[in-house]
Amino acid sequence: MLLHTIKEVREQVKEWKKEGLTVGLVPTMGALHNGHLSLIKKAVEKCDKVVVSVFVNPIQFCPGEDLDKYPRTLEADTKLCNDAGVSIVFAPSPSEMYGQSEMRTNDFLTYVIPPFFYVNKLCGKSRVGHFDGVCTVVNKLFNIVQPDFAFFGQKDAQQLIIIKKMVKDLNIPVDIVPCPIVREESGLALSSRNKYLSEEDKKEALVLSKILNNIKDCYKKGITDVEALKETAFQFLTDKHELEYLELLDCEDLEEKKIADNNTRVFIACKVGGVRLIDNILLGE
Ligand code: AMP
Repeated sequence: MLLHTIKEVREQVKEWKKEGLTVGLVPTMGALHNGHLSLIKKAVEKCDKVVVSVFVNPIQFCPGEDLDKYPRTLEADTKLCNDAGVSIVFAPSPSEMYGQSEMRTNDFLTYVIPPFFYVNKLCGKSRVGHFDGVCTVVNKLFNIVQPDFAFFGQKDAQQLIIIKKMVKDLNIPVDIVPCPIVREESGLALSSRNKYLSEEDKKEALVLSKILNNIKDCYKKGITDVEALKETAFQFLTDKHELEYLELLDCEDLEEKKIADNNTRVFIACKVGGVRLIDNILLGE
């Protein structure tokens, strides 16, 4: 069932809750691929009813980012969700979500602001305000759907950590279910933004997973010094790759590591053919 209004979703969820059914939420920006589908499948397995939100959230895009050209494929997304056993696809318009105050510059919206320590690194450094937009919309979706479980991918590991922190700090009654990264056979992590890549770019984009896997191999062979591990990346980088960050941080609280251990996650962001890609790997897995 495709719904566009908050009211309709609320009414349907209320009926389910009356019947004692459990509700799962999978927040997405649409252009669904097998990565999203893995979250959806997990949700369908675990919950009686599943809501997938499809919303390209304007307030999490920074000026100059790809808000206007972000792929929008609602018809195909809805079909995919229906086939997977999803009960509601919730696809609100920006004005349904934010009224007239959706643009940050209006300064008329109540925001959920995650802690500086968690956002002043990795993607938050270049995407200023991004995680304010993410936490605000996810909090709104939690209030609208009131899910028992919400499913998020490790692909966006910083986002997942920040959302867990928000849920804990604000006592939001929802269980966050982390889901592993889905990759192409080549190693490229699936992403809606891969649609922007040419065939040539896609080959070059393998640099992210190659760097991560190599760091993990080196760690398994006994190298634990973080600077030494980071240096192993340079052999893979050419002028086709614009490295934004490569960091080794604690997988729970994003503390910086000097010596890597099993709880260290390696995070990378790199532009290929002008497309900004992110990926990560846990050393202890
Ligand atoms: P997005 O539509 O990009 O906002 O992503 C919606 C959800 O799908 C987020 O929780 C992402 O982390 C998750 N996701 C996106 N790509 C992947 C992937 N390749 N593997 C696992 N989860 C993913």
